Amino acid sequence: MNKYNIYSASGIKSICEFYNIRASKKLGQNFLIDFNISKKIIKTIKSNIQTSDTVIIEIGPGLGALTYILADEFNQIFAVEYDKKLVQILQENIIINKKNVNIINYDALKFDYKQLINIYNLHNKNIIICANLPYYITTPLISRFLEESISDDGKLNWTSLTVMVQKETSDRLISAPGTKNCGAISVLVRFFSEPEKIFNISKNCFFPIPKVDSSLISFKINNNNIKKVKNKKNLFKITKILFSERRKMILKNLIKNFDLKPQEIINILDKLNLSSNLRPENLSLENLINLSNNF
Ligand code: SAM
Repeated sequence: MNKYNIYSASGIKSICEFYNIRASKKLGQNFLIDFNISKKIIKTIKSNIQTSDTVIIEIGPGLGALTYILADEFNQIFAVEYDKKLVQILQENIIINKKNVNIINYDALKFDYKQLINIYNLHNKNIIICANLPYYITTPLISRFLEESISDDGKLNWTSLTVMVQKETSDRLISAPGTKNCGAISVLVRFFSEPEKIFNISKNCFFPIPKVDSSLISFKINNNNIKKVKNKKNLFKITKILFSERRKMILKNLIKNFDLKPQEIINILDKLNLSSNLRPENLSLENLINLSNNF
């Protein structure tokens, strides 16, 4: 074990005192301090593995609650952390002598994952992404991972993503199309993966204690729907457009955003047996795939 016990509030306090830092609210720094939960998360990640040739990309390693265990379980780990000071603490205390862990000091939203794959020649590896995500990056980051997993100009070839997010966010992420909670991100998650809620995590397992509980969710890439989509970029475009105004009738929204005459749009909707009065929340996954294939 290290000089500091990162699986305790007192250990985290000692680190903060020694390095003269405070957990940043802006960066969502609520560190997991429950060793058993960390172990359970790693067990979930391992259950998604099909080959031994697995590489982990961890987002926001923080003080290493997951990284520390990952280092003993996997051959190669890349961890992207925004906070320079935490990178220093990780390197000086948590992953010393762990040559299989590469900490990258970068904004995970801006980091070029495809370049990482090229530089380290990870094209044929089974890439697994894991994270305990701050609220503010959850949707853009998952959306980006989904988008890049299917891009035609070189893919980000990840096979599963296991993330801890605020409980409400997890409910939204895994809600099915046609249900009240469903948003663009829930639809996109369903297009490309099988989302599953694994377990809830009490806010008391973190330090500083956040306001709300979290949930662990896992997505496994599923190619069945992807095969039905003619133009994947169009699918992202139309889903985001429609759900940006989810109370609006789809016809109005399509007229506003596509360079087609209203009658042409009505004809497409007729062809797909879709009423112009429908709202995005009424659309099934199949409807959205059909729409994206016809616009
Ligand atoms: N994984 C650690 C754990 O479970 O204890 C830390 C989780 S903490 C909720 C979120 C971490 O993400 C923090 O370390 C924070 O600095 C980092 N973070 C926040 N925004 C980030 C960004 N845009 N890119 C990379 N890391 C970020």
